[in-house]
Amino acid sequence: MTQISEIFGSMVFGDAAMREKLPKDIYKALKKTIRNGKTLDPEIAGAVANAMKSWAIEKGATHFTHWFQPMTGITAEKHDSFISPTSDGGIILEFSGKELIKGEPDASSFPNGGLRATFEARGYTAWDPTSYAFIKDGVLCIPTAFCSYNGQALDKKTPLLRSMEAINKQALRILRLFGNREATNVISNVGPEQEYFLIDTELFNQRKDLFFTGRTLFGAKPPKGQELSDHYFGSIKTRVAEFMEDLDIELWKIGILAKTEHNEVAPSQHELAPIYTTTNIATDHNQLTMEIMKKVAKRHGLTCLLHEKPFAGLNGSGKHNNWSLSTDKGENLLEPGSSPEENAQFLLFLCAVIKAVDEHQDLLRISVASAGNDHRLGGHEAPPAIMSMFLGDELTAILDSIMQGVPYDKNDAGEIEVGVHVLPKFPRDNTDRNRTSPFAFTGNKFEFRMLGSSDSIACANYIINTIVSDVLMEFADQLESAQDFNKELQKLIKNTLNAHKRIIFNGNGYTEEWAQEAERRGLLNLKTTVDALPYYIKSENIALFERHGIFTEPEMHSRYEILMENYCKVLNIEGLTMLDMVRKDIFPAVSAYCGDLSSNALAKKELCESISCESEIALLEKLSKLSACLMKSADELENALMGVAECDDIKARAEYYRDQVLPKMQELRAVGDQIEVNLGQDYLPYPTYGQLLFSVC
Ligand code: ADP
Ligand code: MG
Repeated sequence: MTQISEIFGSMVFGDAAMREKLPKDIYKALKKTIRNGKTLDPEIAGAVANAMKSWAIEKGATHFTHWFQPMTGITAEKHDSFISPTSDGGIILEFSGKELIKGEPDASSFPNGGLRATFEARGYTAWDPTSYAFIKDGVLCIPTAFCSYNGQALDKKTPLLRSMEAINKQALRILRLFGNREATNVISNVGPEQEYFLIDTELFNQRKDLFFTGRTLFGAKPPKGQELSDHYFGSIKTRVAEFMEDLDIELWKIGILAKTEHNEVAPSQHELAPIYTTTNIATDHNQLTMEIMKKVAKRHGLTCLLHEKPFAGLNGSGKHNNWSLSTDKGENLLEPGSSPEENAQFLLFLCAVIKAVDEHQDLLRISVASAGNDHRLGGHEAPPAIMSMFLGDELTAILDSIMQGVPYDKNDAGEIEVGVHVLPKFPRDNTDRNRTSPFAFTGNKFEFRMLGSSDSIACANYIINTIVSDVLMEFADQLESAQDFNKELQKLIKNTLNAHKRIIFNGNGYTEEWAQEAERRGLLNLKTTVDALPYYIKSENIALFERHGIFTEPEMHSRYEILMENYCKVLNIEGLTMLDMVRKDIFPAVSAYCGDLSSNALAKKELCESISCESEIALLEKLSKLSACLMKSADELENALMGVAECDDIKARAEYYRDQVLPKMQELRAVGDQIEVNLGQDYLPYPTYGQLLFSVC
């Protein structure tokens, strides 16, 4: 369709716009900067800025912004208009090279985890030329990294860019060992599949819990949930289809490769998958996708919920992070090849990922840790909090035969010798059947399935990139100094597999038996964010990130503080919202209903002494007990929330929220939900699960 090809990228200052707007030599210099991932030469920045400005103005833009990704988890922008006064009292439209390369937002209110004192609150944003500028809502957005004045990372993009450099460096060393001289870059790619819920905005606005926290804190189970599986891949309802159509167009305009859309398991749950691209751009695009989903939903009278667990008892939303490595020549390094050398190289990269995942289970768990995702991981619909890898029966059997030095197939001549034999072909289809695995090999990529739907994918990807870089570095060190490369390679692969085979698990990850088996294997089971985060600042982990130039020690401490703090804040807001709902909505509702029931019973008795008021009295007794219980439970939650003041450090506080506040919230919810079930329709204080989940048509 010509229309789509016209729309696609029309709001991006990408290659076509650059070629058209920039003088040839400037274009070439800019492309070189992009290719090498370096910062832009100030000499050419002026010309680039000027071209960008005139392109943006032609497209209707009036403002520009440095668009960045602070530790809040969402994106930030501060708009400046292009106008500049002239001496004769008029204006001209200006955008300088300096303004393009560097911005200086006052950053005092962004989370920094103790990295900056307020008196030196300035941060700066620096253009990342590897991610194209684009226009959103009439504003030219320049993707930037955000740092403190002395260069410490305050955002999610900086470590991601650093990790891409690290993996490029180490993976190239491996490629050279296999005689590859052509590749000049190794790139990490990702295709994130995004799950979300759509609900009617009018109903959303009546729920304080959804409004303040993104998830329901009360809500009885509806008569029908997802048990019939009649929503998964079902035909898409008209309003949702219109939303998806609109969303695709908005995403295509800014160059996002939105590809697949379908209904998910829970009612009102959907998924969008883009075509994969480099981790940096995919991260920018996923942030934009989440933002635009919310905006487009509004136009359709819908609200997009990105929380990991908006509804208890129904599937939560995740984000599958499909990750691979490829060269600038287009070779996928996780694709099994057809020659012995290609296969040996594939096996080495595979082993590197296996070792990395096994050795750094803690970091992978941390990369997806949030208060919201705690409700999902380990539930029966999402991967457990235990890390393991699925490789499929076929590939596992091949690896087994390598480990044991026995033939893979009885009909085969002899054992598989890495670097000498061609691997037996394994059918791609067999690799993707297990949906319960947190880290599954799916034929030519790994699918990391633990991410929460609202997470930025930056953290998962800089952690995967870093841990794999570290193993590749170790492998390269060992192989570069080997006398006999093939022999050393054979030994390395065999030893690595033997040392890390415990992480491979092809069975059902949702069962209790697996949790027990994983414990026997010595795998970590970090059930909550608060269990996981302290591993961030373990000395081995600090050393790892320092070794590859991803983080300094203060940067890691700051991230630990920010994540812990965020956990506490989320729980505090949830607790306070519950108290508000109980006192302002639920208690008044139950009280009104009880009042009416008593008046009706009294009126009946007045009319006729012998009439039965049994049902009114029974219900009144039940509701009166429940409402007393409700208020008592609310007081207990309030006391628990106040008790946090006693904790003196961030770890103690987070543990307190998990162990003292969360259970009180659960108790309160149970009572609130019992009341809901017993209230008459007209007395319900907020829309029910049934209304929220089934009203969009
Ligand atoms: P599904 O998981 O639903 O079967 P696919 O496996 O085809 O679907 O793709 C899911 C996501 O994986 C898409 O975003 C797709 O672009 C991405 N993907 C496909 N190949 C790769 C690859 N080599 N590297 C990274 N992501 C990939
Ligand atoms: Mg998938």
